[in-house]
Amino acid sequence: MKDYDVLTCPYCGSELVEQVEQYYCDFCVMRLDPYQVQRNHERISVRIKDFSLEVYLDKTTPELMRLSTFELLSLLKYARAERVSLYHYLNVFYKARKLGKTEEYKENEEESGKEYEKITRKMFVLENILRQRLGYVPHRITDDYLARYLEEMKKGKHKPMIIRQKRRDEVKSGS
Ligand SMILES: [Zn+2]
Repeated sequence: MKDYDVLTCPYCGSELVEQVEQYYCDFCVMRLDPYQVQRNHERISVRIKDFSLEVYLDKTTPELMRLSTFELLSLLKYARAERVSLYHYLNVFYKARKLGKTEEYKENEEESGKEYEKITRKMFVLENILRQRLGYVPHRITDDYLARYLEEMKKGKHKPMIIRQKRRDEVKSGS
């Protein structure tokens, strides 16, 4: 860390008070973990990195809660698509078993059934985390929706949270 770096609050931009393994913002009246702390009045950073959706779907609910809203939206889009294709497979195996009147596809059908239940629960989790963040569950998430979201995110982070006090100083000096 360079010595002119100031540790600041990601929400209001105030300088932080260092505590044992934590930081404290007087203005927000809240503790902050080291990973939340910003430097030089920067705004909250939202991760916009590429990530493998499959791997992320295996994360636990507390882990998912720490993802950015954009990541959650991308994951939800993926989970919904996966669910549709699993449902399709489930039906294919079911029909094949009924048609052939055999137990041949039973194992595949059961396997798909478990996968289907798992992806459905993941989808519920993602929808509920997003509902807490946004106040609603996005109905349809398209590539276009995500692209526009990303565009807004890139626009949002431009200005550091510094309050210029110049005018007050001018008044004090009587000019
Ligand atoms: Zn603050």
